[in-house]
Amino acid sequence: MHSPDGPARSSAASRVQDFQVFGEFGEVNPSISDGSTFTFLDPGKLKALFHAPIPGCHLYSRLENPSTRVLGQALARLEGTPAAHATASGMAAITTTLMALCEQGSVIVSDRLVYGGTHALLRNVFPRYGITTRFVDCTDPDAVRAALKGEVRVLYCESLTNPLLRTPDLALLAELAHARGARFVVDNTFAPLIFAPHELGADIVIHSLTKFINGMSDCVAGVICADQAFIDELSDAGSGTCMLFGPTLDSARAASIYKNLHTLPARMIQHGHNAQLWAERLRGHGLKVCYPGLPDYPDRAIFAHQADPRMGSGGMLTMDAGSEDLAEALMLALQEVQVGFLAVSLGYYRTLFSPPGASTSSEIPESERLATGLTPGLVRFSVGLDFEIERSWERFEGCLRKVGLIG
Ligand code: PLP
Repeated sequence: MHSPDGPARSSAASRVQDFQVFGEFGEVNPSISDGSTFTFLDPGKLKALFHAPIPGCHLYSRLENPSTRVLGQALARLEGTPAAHATASGMAAITTTLMALCEQGSVIVSDRLVYGGTHALLRNVFPRYGITTRFVDCTDPDAVRAALKGEVRVLYCESLTNPLLRTPDLALLAELAHARGARFVVDNTFAPLIFAPHELGADIVIHSLTKFINGMSDCVAGVICADQAFIDELSDAGSGTCMLFGPTLDSARAASIYKNLHTLPARMIQHGHNAQLWAERLRGHGLKVCYPGLPDYPDRAIFAHQADPRMGSGGMLTMDAGSEDLAEALMLALQEVQVGFLAVSLGYYRTLFSPPGASTSSEIPESERLATGLTPGLVRFSVGLDFEIERSWERFEGCLRKVGLIG
């Protein structure tokens, strides 16, 4: 139990901590698999593997190998799902999951506040294959109820939305989806360890490992966490979208992400600590900030109910600079004094900032962006792990003064 009236669950961090795999020669890290294909002493086993997985056996690295399997097992622990499959990017995880769940004529109900790439996939690409999407505000249960009419295959949302940082009520959404026979798919990229969507009812949990989980901004990767039957379905040699689309993660990358995963709890706490400090200071200057750890955060009650409080309120915050010009001037000033980088992505050990309206959410039609509050002056911050956070704040404050956002 992590909050007085919050959901009881085992801690994701403790489950990951207890996952220990050693290498072939007793190394403290698992051995890195170095083969695209695997030998068989028994031709019968090779034949059988084309029909069903055999414990301990690997077939061909386009699907998986010992390194990607270990990473998948560790991430299944993280999300508390029976199984998981690592992929070559977050988008690969999303695409292969949704293509596995849908067919021509299927309807998806998606939060309208999702990562721009996901929005573009649903809006521009899937209709070509007869899969249509109704976009709704997932923080409005009545709107979701209304959208879930007729036959709906999937209800899709992000646990903490990109970039506006809203928190849908995941337990309620799971109930609504399941009542209509839909699968509930949640992208938990912005809030690993903070939220455990599967424990709140999500059937499938996706991550872009590119972000907080890897934390080094040195590769792209993703994961699909689900029950064993769904992971087996993805892996089927004759029809599985992971086997046949080939969204394959390299084994050396899988091994490095696996090692970084084990520092995630410490990193999330430090990201949250630093973001909380900046959010409060920005708010102290009367600036328009959104951060789940602020008292006026719009979904504060739901966030508090769903989150593991030991993990803080996350590393993401947004600030509306008032105009695109001011946002650009601020980001350039921040980069110049080495507060961080003007770059897309998030979860890096250094601070990253970008203007989502002109970049990672630019795929969303302008009218939709403006209706949801995604203004041209919005800056999204992924706050870094700075030990000297007060010094970084002094520099930040200097930049706010320089561009005229504070007196
Ligand atoms: N999900 C979210 C919430 C994201 O922000 C992103 C990318 O920014 C993705 C998925 C896609 O991940 P990737 O870039 O690893 O394909």
